[in-house]
Amino acid sequence: MQIYEYKIPMPDIGYNANAYLIKHKNKKSILVDAGPNSPQALDALEATLKKAEVGWDNIEHILVTHGHYDHFGFVAQIAERSGALVWVHPADRNKLTSALKNPFFIDPEAAIPFLEELGIQRTKIAGLINEVVTLEGGTKPLPESSIRSLSQGAVLNLSGLTIIHTPGHTPGSCCFQLVENGAVFTGDTLLPEIIPNPIFDLEGEERDLSLVRLQESMTKIRLLRASKAYPGHGKPILSIDSAIDRQFTHMAKRSEQVLGILGVYGLSTFSVTNKLFPSDGGRYHTWLALSVTLGHLGWLRVRNCVRTRRNAGIVYWEAQ
Ligand SMILES: [Zn+2]
Ligand SMILES: [Zn+2]
Repeated sequence: MQIYEYKIPMPDIGYNANAYLIKHKNKKSILVDAGPNSPQALDALEATLKKAEVGWDNIEHILVTHGHYDHFGFVAQIAERSGALVWVHPADRNKLTSALKNPFFIDPEAAIPFLEELGIQRTKIAGLINEVVTLEGGTKPLPESSIRSLSQGAVLNLSGLTIIHTPGHTPGSCCFQLVENGAVFTGDTLLPEIIPNPIFDLEGEERDLSLVRLQESMTKIRLLRASKAYPGHGKPILSIDSAIDRQFTHMAKRSEQVLGILGVYGLSTFSVTNKLFPSDGGRYHTWLALSVTLGHLGWLRVRNCVRTRRNAGIVYWEAQ
C-alpha cells in the first residue's frame, strides 16, 4: 500500500485543500476526499494518478471526511468517470445529494428562525445569508445510487480502513485509520495550524453542542495512538498529542473570554459574537464567528457556567 498526498489550490480562499490517494498492490485505489469542484482539483488528481501509475478505472472508493465543498465538491465528477462508490456518514449525506450553493446549510429559508433566535435583527438576516450563499461554481449533486453510508467502528475490507465517527466540525465528520500502519486521516477535525471551527448545523437539536462534540472527537483521535495524521488542510501531523493539547488550551482560553464578556448581563449570541470578534474579517466571517461563539456558550452551558433566558423569540445567555 502506498499513500499519495496531494494538494488542491483554492485561489479564491488563499489556501489548499488536501486529498489522498491510497494505492493497493493490485492498483486498486481509494481516495480520501477530492477537493472542491474546480479545474485545480482535476489537474491535481490527474497528476497524482500519473505519478501513482493508476488509471481512473482503478479508483474503487471515495471516502468523504465530511460534507464541506472543499472536500467533496469534486467527488461527483470522479464517481461518474471512474464508477467509484462514494462513502459518507449519514449525518452529512444530504450535503452531497443536494446541489449545494453554500458551505454550511442546505435550505437558506430554514436558517431564518434560528438566526432570529441568535439575536440577529431581521433586516440583517438576508444580508448574512447572501454572504454565505455565494459560493462560486457550486457542486454537482451525487446520485443516491452511488453513495454508501459510513458507520462507526466498521472496517471497510477493500480499503483496509477503520471508520471513526468524529462529529463537531460537522455532524457527519469521520476519521479513517489505516489498519496496516495506524495512520489516521482526520479531515478538518484535527488540523496542524488552524483550530477547527465547531460549525453549528441547522438540522437536529444539538445546535449549541458542536464544540462539546468536537472536543469529544479529539479525545477519540487521541485514543487511537496514531503515529501520523493526514489532515484536510496543511502538512501531516507527527505529534498528535501536542496538536490536540494546543487546541484544548486555545479553546479553554476562548471559553474564559466568552464568560468574561457575559459578565452579569444577559446577551444574545450575536451580541457576544460582536464583542468576541470586533473586526469584520472577510468572507463567511460572520457565520464562522457565530459558530465559534455558540460552540463556547454551549460548552459553558453543559458545565453549568451559563444559563439561557428567552425573551421575545431571542435567547439570552447569562453567567451563573
Ligand atoms: Zn470543513
Ligand atoms: Zn476544509
